[in-house]
Amino acid sequence: MVDLHLHSTFSDGSRTPEEVAALAREAGLSAAVLTDHDNWRGADRFRAAADAAGLRTAVGMEISADVPGRTVHLLAYGFDPADAALASAMERVRGGRRARNAEIYAKLARLGCPVSPEEVEREAGTPDLVARPHIAAALVRKGFARDRADAFRRFLERGAPAYADRFRLAPDEAIRLVRGAGGAVSLAHPYSTRYDRSELRAFVARLAEAGLDGIEAYYTGHLPGQVEELLGLAAEFGLVATGGSDFHGDAKPNVRVGVAYGGLKVPDASFDAILARAASSRRG
Ligand code: AMP
Ligand code: FE
Ligand code: FE
Ligand code: ZN
Repeated sequence: MVDLHLHSTFSDGSRTPEEVAALAREAGLSAAVLTDHDNWRGADRFRAAADAAGLRTAVGMEISADVPGRTVHLLAYGFDPADAALASAMERVRGGRRARNAEIYAKLARLGCPVSPEEVEREAGTPDLVARPHIAAALVRKGFARDRADAFRRFLERGAPAYADRFRLAPDEAIRLVRGAGGAVSLAHPYSTRYDRSELRAFVARLAEAGLDGIEAYYTGHLPGQVEELLGLAAEFGLVATGGSDFHGDAKPNVRVGVAYGGLKVPDASFDAILARAASSRRG
């Protein structure tokens, strides 16, 4: 078994890359990929720990794509971290995140619930990738919200008074950049899009046309019928069925590396097949 969707302290996960690799080993996995949001700064440390633990791995990240009103996340695998076009596009994405965060801080101050960038960075553990869950944690710590869910509801979710949007890449642009860097792309947790069955099929068809390589058929909480539906889409559009737990550590304490709530089983072939697609994007 493998786990191709894992977060660390390099985004909104609570465990270090070394800890995540150790958990993957304890789960008895043969391969694991760290997919932090919008960056791969944890990749070298994860690779070193994975090598030491006898786990196969590849570079990865999760990109939030711009589809108005929808949550569309793309998982990128096996790209060249030195690719200039991808690196500069992702720097632009991270700049958009910093500008968005500054807007949120200003709105929170106007609402009488100020949090400073330093307070939020302390929750994040790093200034590199500050996400809304870190802002939520700072709001809780200062007594402006009961818990993180409350902080999202009162302040941070779309439609709430401190919400601000951020720059995202269009999905076909993200696919083009990752494939241009010799990587492969899988559509993460497809049901988070909240498309109905026929809309999802049309969306996957469009992304497949744009070069999508995989679809995350195996995922925390997917019911057997949902896995079947996604395997059907994978077969129909020639996509690799990928999978992972979306482990975040303490932020989602019931989701364990490799097994999620206990029933997740992502076949080894998922790892080999998605990396084969990355290799074929390198051959052009
Ligand atoms: P960001 O990329 O900074 O906009 O933060 C997005 C992250 O916030 C997601 O990956 C989720 O983990 C978390 N998130 C988004 N909406 C909610 C919500 N309504 N309640 C709790 N967490 C949320
Ligand atoms: Fe996350
Ligand atoms: Fe995601
Ligand atoms: Zn994720």
